[in-house]
Amino acid sequence: MAKELYNLGEMPPLGVIPPKMHAWLIRPERFGKPMEAFQKEVVDTPPIADDEVLVYVMAAGINYNNVWAGLGIPVNVIGARNKAGEKEEFHIGGSDASGIVYKVGKDVTNVKVGDEVVMHCGQYSRHCEWVKSGGDPMYSPTFRIWGYETNWGSFAQFTKVQAQQCMPKPKHMNWEEAAAYTLVAATAWRMLHGWGANAVKKGDVALIWGGAGGLGSMAIQIAKAAGATSVAMVSGEDKFDYCMKLGAKGCINRNEFDHWGMLPHWKDNVGYAKWMKGVRAFGAKIWEVLGEKRAPNIVFEHPGETTIPTSIFVCDTGGIVVVCAGTTGYNATVDLRYLWMRQKRLQGSHFANTEQSNQMNELALRGLLDPCLSRAFTYDDIPVAHQLMHDNKHPHGNMSVLVGATGFGQGASGKPPVAIVHPTLPKDDMHTTPHPYPMSTPLPGIGEAEALTITDDGTKVRDLMHRGIISCTPTDTVGTVAKIMVNKEIHAVVVMDERGKAIGVVSQTDMVLARQGRTPDEARSMRAQDVMTPGCATCDADMLLSEAVSLMTGRRMHRLVVTEKEQPVGVISMTDVVRKIIGE
Ligand code: NAP
Repeated sequence: MAKELYNLGEMPPLGVIPPKMHAWLIRPERFGKPMEAFQKEVVDTPPIADDEVLVYVMAAGINYNNVWAGLGIPVNVIGARNKAGEKEEFHIGGSDASGIVYKVGKDVTNVKVGDEVVMHCGQYSRHCEWVKSGGDPMYSPTFRIWGYETNWGSFAQFTKVQAQQCMPKPKHMNWEEAAAYTLVAATAWRMLHGWGANAVKKGDVALIWGGAGGLGSMAIQIAKAAGATSVAMVSGEDKFDYCMKLGAKGCINRNEFDHWGMLPHWKDNVGYAKWMKGVRAFGAKIWEVLGEKRAPNIVFEHPGETTIPTSIFVCDTGGIVVVCAGTTGYNATVDLRYLWMRQKRLQGSHFANTEQSNQMNELALRGLLDPCLSRAFTYDDIPVAHQLMHDNKHPHGNMSVLVGATGFGQGASGKPPVAIVHPTLPKDDMHTTPHPYPMSTPLPGIGEAEALTITDDGTKVRDLMHRGIISCTPTDTVGTVAKIMVNKEIHAVVVMDERGKAIGVVSQTDMVLARQGRTPDEARSMRAQDVMTPGCATCDADMLLSEAVSLMTGRRMHRLVVTEKEQPVGVISMTDVVRKIIGE
């Protein structure tokens, strides 16, 4: 007969499920920093469906996702589930775990009560038509990250998972090690092995960003196991040894270079040339580290906005830049010439499917994947571990917490199949990088309009626009255009063709870019059509000002030509908007 509730660490007899369990809960009324958002409570142990498994959790992994779940941003995960029909008004987080199977649904065949398992965090409906037809579950609309987008994660005595999430626990790992690697390692596996002809193979060269981080440390080991050579990127030489012990051939300190960030505009001769110098020096550093003039044919990307231009440039012809996050920002700029002429691939990747997670786990079972556990905590410290992450004061590598295990170092029952070196991170290692957003972000599609959040006072474009258009012809010289700008005290001149159609705009920025790398005489003698920004973004005079602003920011423009009955009648600029919203 099961007790109503077992104390933490008091293991119920195998297969006995108490009606209640201890758990750390997040509730909407206390959304905020982890120390407040997470609280210990006792809740009903969840029932399981026919394809599900109830696992007694021994240890759980810590990920950023549940910092965001606790903050309630960018998504109120509880509200979203309630809206979808789930009744629980709380969230039990935790998307990594090790534990023991205590109960299986009637359709479960891959695990049985008593099995020691680790779990990957990919859930999807087995009834999804796409999945039933053999499609990759990662593309199923039902795909969810367990313990973030779903409830009943691993920060509790029992967790409810789908049977397909369960994989054998490596016997040589203790509980907290086994709970640390699955999310990052499976993600890295799909990134490196999931993309057909570009899958990593013997003899490849891989460039791994954030080599000492959660994903990067796994990527180095996965690349090594495939027989590839990797170059690890880090922010300091103190992390070189760590990455080399994991298997990198060499490392580069990204702080030795300063060409990071979005690409300079291709018309900006000087800026682009400076960027090119920086990125070529970086490419030469890769050669130096490799000891041969080879370009990486696979680039493992997640920093995003600041590194993508470099990743695409250094990637070999026919190679792949595979990206699973945009930690530094989402607007990746691409010089398309390199993408098409050298036929490179920029590929998005998200977590991993069941098969890929198991392939990754094979590596762990064979002792070829160190979990890179940097710090383990007790159950009571679940909010502390998340608070450290929230404050960016956590170490690199992966962190986990004990749940059912009563002490550190328990659970290892076998010798590692091969000798394992556990590399250690530099003493006092801490993150100095931006907070990543959760690995899953809601993205409105064509059919799901997002509610407008912009407040609008009803101001229309016609209330602020300047009437009249100052124009030039396509063949007017830049010298002539400059005179018009100076004499009329305007920031841009519209280029009209012989039929009076606006075909482009020469802005002050275009003029400055025309002068970059040229003598004043050369720049003056260029024609308007050579320097203008082609096309002419227009808006109707009756458009709301807020919509016109979105149009300008979306296209990175400072002005729009205003039309009435489709005829150009004036101009509205960002300066006009600033006057209105801030005042002169
Ligand atoms: P992590 O442990 O924090 O490591 C990220 C590493 O990126 C840092 O260690 C840092 O290393 C490097 N970095 C930071 N800023 C950088 C910059 N400006 N330029 C170059 N490198 C920079 O995080 P993680 O667990 O590896 O995860 C990385 C990202 O992937 C996060 O945004 C996470 O949410 C996302 N993720 C996505 C999925 C998915 O399935 N889509 C799964 C897991 C993680 P140095 O300072 O040493 O360079």
